[in-house]
Amino acid sequence: MQTIKNLFERQTAKFIIDRAISKVKANPEDGMMDLLSYAEKLHVFQDATFESAKKIIQDPQNKWTRLAKSLICDTHPNVLRMNLLNAGYQAGLYGSKIQREIRKKLNTNVPWTILFDPTSACNLKCVGCWAAEYGHQLNLSYAEMDNLITQGKEIGTYFYLLTGGEPLTRKRDILKLAEKHHQCAFHIFTNGTLIDEEFCKEVQRLGNLTFALSLEGFEDENDLRRGQGVFQRVSHSMELMKEYGLIFGAAICYTSANYKTVTSDEFLEYIIEKGARLAWYFHYMPVGVDAEPKLMLNPAQRETMIRRIRYLRSEKGNHPISLIDFQNDGQFINGCIAGGKDYLHINANGDVEPCVFIHYSTANIRTHTLKEALAQPLFMAYRARQPFNSNHFRPCPMLENPEILRKMVKESGAKSTDLIQEESVEHLCSKCDLYAAQWKNKSEELWEIYGNHTETEDFMKKIS
Ligand code: SF4
Repeated sequence: MQTIKNLFERQTAKFIIDRAISKVKANPEDGMMDLLSYAEKLHVFQDATFESAKKIIQDPQNKWTRLAKSLICDTHPNVLRMNLLNAGYQAGLYGSKIQREIRKKLNTNVPWTILFDPTSACNLKCVGCWAAEYGHQLNLSYAEMDNLITQGKEIGTYFYLLTGGEPLTRKRDILKLAEKHHQCAFHIFTNGTLIDEEFCKEVQRLGNLTFALSLEGFEDENDLRRGQGVFQRVSHSMELMKEYGLIFGAAICYTSANYKTVTSDEFLEYIIEKGARLAWYFHYMPVGVDAEPKLMLNPAQRETMIRRIRYLRSEKGNHPISLIDFQNDGQFINGCIAGGKDYLHINANGDVEPCVFIHYSTANIRTHTLKEALAQPLFMAYRARQPFNSNHFRPCPMLENPEILRKMVKESGAKSTDLIQEESVEHLCSKCDLYAAQWKNKSEELWEIYGNHTETEDFMKKIS
């Protein structure tokens, strides 16, 4: 239930956003300053951050100014308005306040975002992907997803991430959810092959959905694993989404085989030209009994990745796109965000897991409320130990600190929830032991450079 205060604040935010959008079109600097001043009034920024952001806006050649301007001018007004309202005001300000209160009251973690899988089904058959092998067996019903979001809103969670399987095999239900929960923001990780004009029109009408389309490189590299013709289909979907003024980016799993291609200038230029505003980079994780550890990066490759992404995000990088390196950006979010600290994952069987990569749980949405699931022993073990390492280049209880996941799973009595084949925590963590040992020294060397470096602080001032 929305409170009167929430309704009033939301209306005010909507008025200011609408005014700023029309102002940007006439005079980009003035309109962006309006939005910034509004954010300052809501105490979103610290003084220094506000001043840095102001300077950036005053420089029309700055890549962040170019990104913001194109986001405002090229996005459909309803899509822009709804995302600023839902992700910015509703989830970022209103929801966060409720979460702080509930966290104190329940003494559990409370997530800012929930990632859930509407289905395990997928229309593609990518080499090595569990969804292709598992087939079309598991689904969350519409009523279950609706109930989950209703419970989520009660604890202040207004931002939902969807993955799978391929979530858009359930596109009718997803649109219905987005319509019913119109104050929430939905970000969908998709293979991008089921996006058509009719769907784009609906997304434009609703406004509160954004997307990340999976890509693993250019055509040959991508289609080798994902199937012939997939690259072209994704490329066509991006063109369509750009035409309809939707907000989307790329979701990239980087491995020892593709990390150079997916961070190359050519690749970034390609996705930016197609209309991508952001790219999520995910380190390959050896999850599942058949996972291939040799695809994990060695220390030198991971170092290259860290340096390259930081270069690309600096002014020198010059590509107007926002880049998130899930495994190497721990210092900006105090390490691991899982176990409900900032997020959790619910698979297509309803199991409530700490993270999309950690398939262990003792709670299921079919037998537990969301609040009960947050209090499950494995989540409490996460809460007691987070952050798992003071060096945030080693954030993960599995990848870089496998002894910790072993302990937490054993202590909590959590069971394997892997959908294709149960995997013991010993089996999973033994694939990470060597990686963790090899990465330790290099990560310490890099932490010396980046951990307290002013470059990082300057960067944070610009993006926070
Ligand atoms: S469990 Fe590991 S992969 Fe998941 S959020 Fe934490 S650090 Fe990242």
